[in-house]
Amino acid sequence: MKRSSLCLFLFCALPLLSFADLVLMEKGQPKCTIILRKGAGPTEKHAAKELAHFLGKIANGKAPVIADTALKGTCPVYLELTDDEQVKEEGFKITANDNELRIAGREGVGVLYGVYKVLKEYGGIRWLFPGKDGEYYKVKPTIIAKNGTIIENPSFSHRDISRVCIYWNSPVMDTLDWGMRNNMRFQSRAEKISLKNLKAGREARAVKSQLGGHCFSPLLTYNPDIKAKDKKAYVQKMFKEHPEYFPLIRGKRVFTMDGGVNPQPCTTNADVIKIVANNAVKQFRNAQKPCILIFGNNDTTQWCQCANCLAVDPQAERDAGIISTRYWTFANAVLAEIKKQAPDFRFEGWTYQNYSRAPIGVKPDKRVEQIMVSNHRRCWKHPLDDKNCPTNKWYYDYNKEWNDTGVPFYSYDELSYAGYAFLPVARCWVDSLIYYKKYMPNYAGSHTEICCPDGIFPKRFHR
Ligand SMILES: [Zn+2]
Ligand SMILES: [Zn+2]
Repeated sequence: MKRSSLCLFLFCALPLLSFADLVLMEKGQPKCTIILRKGAGPTEKHAAKELAHFLGKIANGKAPVIADTALKGTCPVYLELTDDEQVKEEGFKITANDNELRIAGREGVGVLYGVYKVLKEYGGIRWLFPGKDGEYYKVKPTIIAKNGTIIENPSFSHRDISRVCIYWNSPVMDTLDWGMRNNMRFQSRAEKISLKNLKAGREARAVKSQLGGHCFSPLLTYNPDIKAKDKKAYVQKMFKEHPEYFPLIRGKRVFTMDGGVNPQPCTTNADVIKIVANNAVKQFRNAQKPCILIFGNNDTTQWCQCANCLAVDPQAERDAGIISTRYWTFANAVLAEIKKQAPDFRFEGWTYQNYSRAPIGVKPDKRVEQIMVSNHRRCWKHPLDDKNCPTNKWYYDYNKEWNDTGVPFYSYDELSYAGYAFLPVARCWVDSLIYYKKYMPNYAGSHTEICCPDGIFPKRFHR
C-alpha cells in the first residue's frame, strides 16, 4: 500500500524548508532523539516506541533512538507530562520551535495521543483498520514538524468499543493499537489477567478496566475461593439456606445463578444488597486501576415478584410494565453500601430492557459517575430527532430524558451486531454524534461493537 507511491513521492516531497521548521527525519536519516522523562510509565514508553517505529517506517529509513539526552546532530523530542490547564483529561499539547519538539499530556495516555497526532500531522499516516494492512501512508524521507503549538482535548470522555464474539482474553493488540491511533480509549474486563504479555500490552495501550456487566447474580454468588467446578453446588447450598435471596416467580422461589437469561435475585432483600456490595468492593480492590463497575441486570426482563419488590414499583410504571424505579432503588442501595467501604469506587448505571426509561419513583444517586443508555433498536436510517420516524421519536424522548437527569450518559449503539443486520449507517452515526454534542450537554460519547480481526473466535463463528 505504501511502497508503490515511493517514486512519485521523491519528486513532490522536496519540502519548503524554512528556518522555523524542525526536521525530525532527513532523507531517511533520524534527525531527532526521543527523550522520556524519568519514571515514565508503560504508556509513555509505548508512545516513544511508536513514535520511533513510525518515523523510521514513514521515512523508509532508520528509527530515531530513544535516549536520555539528544544524540549529536539531532534535536530532542521530549515526551512529558504537563499541568497546563488548557490540556484536559486525555488531551495533549504539542509545541515545536527551532530547537525542540515537546509532546505533553496530563497523563501517559495524552502523550500517546500526542505522538499519533505528530505522526498523522507531519508524517501523513492514517490507520484505517487493525493490522499492518490497514496502515495508509506515502513514504516521506524527510519529516518536518511545523513551528507552533497544537492543543487537542477529547470531545467525548467515553470512546470505547465492545469487542464482541471473541474470547474475552483474546490479546487483540492490533485492534487496541488501531483504536488508540484513532483517539479511542478501550475498557476491558478486570478479572485477574494471568497472561503476562496481555497485562503488559493492555497497560502500554492505557486500557481501563471494568467490572460488572450482567452482574446481579454473579455478584451475589461471587466467591473467589470456590473453584468453577464447585460453583453450582455452592450456589445450591445458598439457595437451600437462603431462598429469600432468590426471585419469587409465580409464587415460588427460583434457583438462579449467572448473568445470562436467569431472573434477577430479590433486589429488595437487605442481605442481597450487602452481599452484592461487599463482592463488588472485593473485585474492585483486586482490579487494575482505573476501574469502573457497570451495574447491569441478569440479561432478562424477569424480576422478583415478592411483596417487598412489587411495593417499590409506582403504579404508573407497573401499568406500563416498567421496572426503572426498582432498578434504581437497588442500584442506589448497593452504591450507598459500596461507598461506605470504598469511597474511591467508580459506579456506572445502565438503562436497558424494562428499566430503560428514567425512574419516576426515585432519582439516581449523585455518586453515579455515568450511565450507559442502551440504544439497541434505534433507527439508523433517520436522524435521532426525526419526528416522522416513529422509532426514533421514542429514542429521542428517551435520550433527552436521560440527558435532563443531569448525570453524564453515553449511548450503547448496537450498529452492527457481529456483522448481522448491517446497514450503511456511518453518516447517520456521525450526524448523531454532532447532534448530541450540540443539544445534549450531558452526553459523554458513543459505544458500539466490533468483531476484532485479530481476536480468537469460538468454534461457532468458524463458518
Ligand atoms: Zn423480592
Ligand atoms: Zn426511522
